[in-house]
Amino acid sequence: MNFDAYTDLSVVTAVDLVNTLDVETGLDVLTEPDHLAKFLDDHVDSYDRPLTAVDVADVRHLRERLRLAFTLGSIDTVIDLLNDLLAESSALPQLTDHDGVWHFHFTPPESSLVAHMAAEAAMGLASVIREHGLERLRVCAASGCARVFVDTSRNRSRRYCNPDICGNRTNVAAFRARQRAAEASD
Ligand SMILES: [Zn+2]
Ligand SMILES: [Zn+2]
Repeated sequence: MNFDAYTDLSVVTAVDLVNTLDVETGLDVLTEPDHLAKFLDDHVDSYDRPLTAVDVADVRHLRERLRLAFTLGSIDTVIDLLNDLLAESSALPQLTDHDGVWHFHFTPPESSLVAHMAAEAAMGLASVIREHGLERLRVCAASGCARVFVDTSRNRSRRYCNPDICGNRTNVAAFRARQRAAEASD
């Protein structure tokens, strides 16, 4: 499954943003302007500095709402949420080549950081749903893990945020449980 490169970037950013809070343990790696700067350096092609505590609070609130796109499970509710985010951010598509490559920005340059991030994330997630369905937006099936991911597998069968880590851990746990059950019945 291929998204175009730009959709892909906004989808990856939305997923990575949601996963900056581990809702199972409460561990949050986005609590300071410096953390936000690091996240943006890795995910966004431009942003205004300096970042403030208000930016952090706004982005954390956005993160909470974006998580719902993966957990609500109701297409109508998720579409309402994404459309609300687009409306609130006054999304306005603009074609730009500020970095030498033609691409869309979904908000004008004077928009706030959180409006820019909300519009990008909502456009990315809405594109996935439109082309591939809401069931592509998933929460990891491993116990103790609530990371989100987009299932890009051909047969929509991916169950874990990271098959090598959460998938393996789950398989090992199931194997041990079967062994214990076999021993108990000996
Ligand atoms: Zn750009
Ligand atoms: Zn996981």
